[in-house]
Amino acid sequence: MSHTDPRRAIPRTDALLALPAVTAARARLGEQVVRSVVREMQERARAGRLAPEAVPDAVAAALADRTATTLRPVLNATGVVVHTNLGRAPLAPAAVAALHTASGYVDVEMDLTGGVRSGRGLATRAALREACPPAGDALVVNNGAAALVLATTALAAGREVVVSRGELIEIGAGFRLPELIAATGARLREVGATNRTHLDDYAAAIGPATGCVLKVHTSNFRIEGFTSAVGLAELARLAGSHGVALVADLGSGLLAPDPVLPDEPDAATALSAGADLVTASGDKLLGGPQAGLLLGRAELIATLARHPLARALRADKLTLAALEATLSGGVTPVTAALHADPDRLRRRAEQLAEAVGATMCAHDGRVGGGGAPGVPLPGWAVVLPEALAPLLRTGTPAVLPRVHHGRCLVDLRCVPESEDARVAAAVTAALEALGDGPDGRAR
Ligand SMILES: *Cc1c(COP(=O)(O)O)cnc(C)c1O
Repeated sequence: MSHTDPRRAIPRTDALLALPAVTAARARLGEQVVRSVVREMQERARAGRLAPEAVPDAVAAALADRTATTLRPVLNATGVVVHTNLGRAPLAPAAVAALHTASGYVDVEMDLTGGVRSGRGLATRAALREACPPAGDALVVNNGAAALVLATTALAAGREVVVSRGELIEIGAGFRLPELIAATGARLREVGATNRTHLDDYAAAIGPATGCVLKVHTSNFRIEGFTSAVGLAELARLAGSHGVALVADLGSGLLAPDPVLPDEPDAATALSAGADLVTASGDKLLGGPQAGLLLGRAELIATLARHPLARALRADKLTLAALEATLSGGVTPVTAALHADPDRLRRRAEQLAEAVGATMCAHDGRVGGGGAPGVPLPGWAVVLPEALAPLLRTGTPAVLPRVHHGRCLVDLRCVPESEDARVAAAVTAALEALGDGPDGRAR
């Protein structure tokens, strides 16, 4: 490096760390993060990508943007309501407020009247019972998979889980239900064929080795044609006559029927039909935090709650608080998006199309999260060039559109109406960047 090398002008670390903007950022960010931002800007300058005199401002700007979490809020313009890659259910305002409350010391396991220890999450369990009256009791664990693990372990470890071959599903990202059950030490006793299983098949398999009978809702796929499955009520009578518990893994987490999703099973109906235990997720159609729900006969729930594994799978105070608030608060964003008025969606899409100078098309939203695969949610989308998608995804705010058949589709179903103006601004900015950039990718 010669003495005329501009890199010699790069501000030193101690000088940058003493900047007022850096000192202020220390209130929000740890020393490691602050130093890594400083180092990054120095490196940019060394590489000739930043003028040395611009380093202090670049450090200040980067720190001002930097938050302690690197998770970025995303406006979901895909039309997919329960989008697993976007964290499934967005929480209702009541649940967000509950998270804030629960973030400090709270009486999650304390009876303040007596000053003694109490059962954990009792209010949340009571809220679940109230939301699903046929449930004698309820228990909350980490997620739907954990609920199933706890149920099969407690009821069938070392014994058999009787399940139809048509229900041995893979949920997503390689998570296979049969492998999960096998991992609990229970043996799978498969009955029937992929497309058809009859009551006799179950009857022939149930015996002294049976730990439980499992009925799985095949959430994310459908078999059509020559098919046959045994209904819960019939299966419940059979299991009951052998004194064996019937577990129904519903997945979706609907606690009561929803007319928009006529084929989606719900906990109240399943329990009324005779299921002894129902397992479901908290962050699918229920619209709450990630959680696993177990609802059913009180003595079964008590057995599960006493099992050593329950301690390893238990939900944290944040989940318990957000779940209770989801159940007792107002309409969840998931419910609002599922029941969005098509006319209102159309008007919003028209406004957006007009604001950005684009056309629109009819566009079906989806339930997502492995729920109701065949059910379209009729709505609208604004049609944009495909090349806009990466700009929207990486812009501020980040907007995730649907890329389909060479087009970038913006569906406002899952975007809060209060954010429509920001979506319009993001699309306009992206269109400008697309037009201005030498390769159509400036910015
Ligand atoms: C989603 C789902 C699960 C898994 O639930 P998670 O909350 O993702 O762990 C299990 N069974 C069924 C039928 C599901 O749909």
